[in-house]
Amino acid sequence: MPIFYECQRCTACCRWPGQVRLTDAEITRLAAFKGMSEADFIQQFTRLRWDRGGLALQEKPDGGCIFLEGDDCSVQAVKPQQCRDFPNLWNFPGFQQTCKAFPREVTEAEYQRRIALIKSRGSHR
Ligand code: SF4
Ligand code: SF4
Repeated sequence: MPIFYECQRCTACCRWPGQVRLTDAEITRLAAFKGMSEADFIQQFTRLRWDRGGLALQEKPDGGCIFLEGDDCSVQAVKPQQCRDFPNLWNFPGFQQTCKAFPREVTEAEYQRRIALIKSRGSHR
């Protein structure tokens, strides 16, 4: 039976080095959520991706995500798909050493239901 990783909201993935890529639609949603114009949002909260192929979220000086507040994501309802997809739809070897997501064995149907939820907007991981 497939394994689904249940996020425990430890926020380790919001603190480690990397970049959160943003699509145009995500920028539109995030700016609306913050009550800002897209231009102001881009100026204040984004930076150029390493490959210059688009925008990514800005980081704090300590490397944490700009939207991490204490132990919470301050844009949880509209967080980028890259955040929603980890660790079930993308991860890296050894991610379990840092990520506290609980590996739960589920039926194939339940696994597909949960993956569909991750992929759909308007639902939380
Ligand atoms: S947007 Fe939220 S979930 Fe994504 S890295 Fe930042 S704080 Fe974490
Ligand atoms: S995906 Fe893993 S590292 Fe990120 S908040 Fe959930 S349990 Fe923590």
